[in-house]
Amino acid sequence: MSKVTDNVNHFHKVAQSCLADHHRATNSLILLCVSKNHTTAAIQQAYLAGERHFGENRVQEAVEKMTSLANLSDIVWHYIGTIQRNKTHIIANRFAWVHSVTRLSEAKRFAAQRASQLPPLNVCIEINIDNEPQKSGITAEEALPLALAINTLPAIRLRGLMAIPHPQTQHGFAKMHVLFQQMCHAGIALDTLSMGMSADWQQAIAHGATIVRLGTAIFGQRNL
Ligand SMILES: *Cc1c(COP(=O)(O)O)cnc(C)c1O
Repeated sequence: MSKVTDNVNHFHKVAQSCLADHHRATNSLILLCVSKNHTTAAIQQAYLAGERHFGENRVQEAVEKMTSLANLSDIVWHYIGTIQRNKTHIIANRFAWVHSVTRLSEAKRFAAQRASQLPPLNVCIEINIDNEPQKSGITAEEALPLALAINTLPAIRLRGLMAIPHPQTQHGFAKMHVLFQQMCHAGIALDTLSMGMSADWQQAIAHGATIVRLGTAIFGQRNL
């Protein structure tokens, strides 16, 4: 077995016990394999181990991988990077999900540019939950108005919230869970809480994460 296969299997074993500890259903979590800076061979290994969700943060790199892996047609590609205006057309049409929406203007461009024969683009709003100046994302207070506006757009399906909470505290995950529930109570139908990375995904599961985004824990160190 390859190291990637071992990592995938180990993840699922630990994740299942973690879900059980928190009285969560066994199928209530998606592993998003963050394959940025990793090869298509590594993606193929994770695919063979059963994974279908892959995350990339650079458009050009992602499109090259999509092209060479076109035969693996059931891969679900997630865009998790910064959204540049001149890349929205490619993102809108090559990805199934975008986790990093922070502006209505971005969502409007995706809505206008998504090809009509494709299913709606799944989007998450990125929240800077610990208000860290160097991180992207909007404040918790801005989330509801942006969600309401996005919900009026065609060709877009608002799925939930994404965050990269500060690693040294659990508060960010708890705050995200509260915000998620507040928005659901306010009538926004959300089913996705995208949070937790290689170092902290178990905490994220404890606080309701439905997608954890793992790079290093699945593929090893990135070659930068
Ligand atoms: C790189 C990245 C990850 C994965 O990070 P690891 O620590 O390697 O698991 C998750 N989310 C985002 C947004 C990323 O850019």
